[in-house]
Amino acid sequence: MDAEELVTRPKPTWYNNYYFRSKLEAKWAVFFDLMKIKWNYEPEQFTCKDGSQYTPDFFLPDAILREGLEIIEPGDFDGVGATYKKRGPGVYFEIKPFSYITDHLYEERILSSMKMPLILFVGDPLEAVVNIHLWNGENKNIQLQPWWDNYMVFMYCKDCNTIKVDFDEGNYYYCPKCNAPIDWKNHAISHAAEVARNFRFQFYDPRNK
Ligand SMILES: [Zn+2]
Repeated sequence: MDAEELVTRPKPTWYNNYYFRSKLEAKWAVFFDLMKIKWNYEPEQFTCKDGSQYTPDFFLPDAILREGLEIIEPGDFDGVGATYKKRGPGVYFEIKPFSYITDHLYEERILSSMKMPLILFVGDPLEAVVNIHLWNGENKNIQLQPWWDNYMVFMYCKDCNTIKVDFDEGNYYYCPKCNAPIDWKNHAISHAAEVARNFRFQFYDPRNK
């Protein structure tokens, strides 16, 4: 992790015709581009019960979260008692430099505002996708919707280019489309994550035009 991202305010970063709120987010856009993963930056706002807006960082229209479940009726805190329906691909991503989420924040902001598949990934792509067990051996990626779950992994099927996010356990390391086993630490992913980490962003300020 960039030390600067922990000790200083996030720095708006220009990349691919977007202003990202932080360099960390821009690095994720680089990673998605290198992997040829379609992404939208902050495409949608969701209204929380206190009237404020919640805006996830990214939407990946082609990615699949587990079997692609969407919540219809919410249950309790962990989604127990909730009902789901099957939906097409599409996963919202929240990116944070560290795991910040509290029960209160989760209930007030996220559970009250959106029912779509949502993941919180912690760190840059190298940390969150490749070296996911580096935080004292713990995988910090979290599924926030359709129910709460820890230890999530970003998986890429090199046979059919499918992206899946699923639980960090061998049983789930397979492609939901073609059933091929997935090696989520494959060379293409590691390489893209390293390039994204070291990417040199151009300075650009549209106010100077
Ligand atoms: Zn596949």
